[in-house]
Amino acid sequence: MGRFAPSPTGPLHFGSLLAAAASYLQARRRGGTWLVRIEDIDPPREQPGAAERILEALDCYGFEWDGAVIYQSRSHPSHEAALSRLLDAGYAYRCGCSRSDLADTPRGPLGIIYPGTCRAGCSADETAIRVRTDDSGIAFVDGLQGPQQQHLESESGDFVIWRRDGLVAYHLAVVVDDHEQGVTEIVRGIDLMDSTCRQIWLQQLLGYSTPDYLHIPVAAHADGQKLSKLTGAKAVPLGRPEKLLVQVLAALGQQPPSALGKGSLQEIWSWAVEHWHIETLASRTRIVVDSSAMAEGKNGLL
Ligand SMILES: [Zn+2]
Repeated sequence: MGRFAPSPTGPLHFGSLLAAAASYLQARRRGGTWLVRIEDIDPPREQPGAAERILEALDCYGFEWDGAVIYQSRSHPSHEAALSRLLDAGYAYRCGCSRSDLADTPRGPLGIIYPGTCRAGCSADETAIRVRTDDSGIAFVDGLQGPQQQHLESESGDFVIWRRDGLVAYHLAVVVDDHEQGVTEIVRGIDLMDSTCRQIWLQQLLGYSTPDYLHIPVAAHADGQKLSKLTGAKAVPLGRPEKLLVQVLAALGQQPPSALGKGSLQEIWSWAVEHWHIETLASRTRIVVDSSAMAEGKNGLL
């Protein structure tokens, strides 16, 4: 079982369409189910109406998800229950350190490396909650990128699983939801690969099994920057989705025949499921595209 889990922080752009299509095809190729989960757990970053626009775009491009759309915010009781288990087991603790308290803390590629200041106790009123880590090494074999490993205590330190503002942190929410929804295979952008070891650590502490991970290259502008709302990626057009869908398949390393762009969405998807081979994305980190050309219906593959 696979899933696509966008955050409603902006519309669906070409980069998120690639991730949606790769996870969809990977699930469908093997007759699996595919869920859509809106990760609406960070209201300060969300854009009103974005969830509806993402779903409208997915529908327009012919994606068919199984069951109802899942809204992550509605899993709040499960997130709280997991947090209680971690606290009760002594795996997590309250941390009252403010941003300025941590200003001089050394940073690594994953952000600040929390030095464990509050491990022995914290008397602050307002606290975040961190999970304890150790340095035993968390490893997994990515289905596309090969063996990966992190030593969490020295690379990230104990990380936040519940925010100071009372909101669940991303790592905990995603781990609990994937487990409860029975997700067995996660296909997502390589920009999320360095969060995987922290998520596996939480799975281990909570006694969950670890799904298979396949991190696909992310769509990038010619200058190498990832396509995102911040780098000016445009919403995918909703008129004539067939043409762009064929470009998505080509960007994902499939070789759609040129006549396919004249077919219906149903014909394109059935060709894509039948011919899907994810292996062409192995060891790649970037798919360079000209997204504004694509938005105008031109070939934007560079
Ligand atoms: Zn602290």
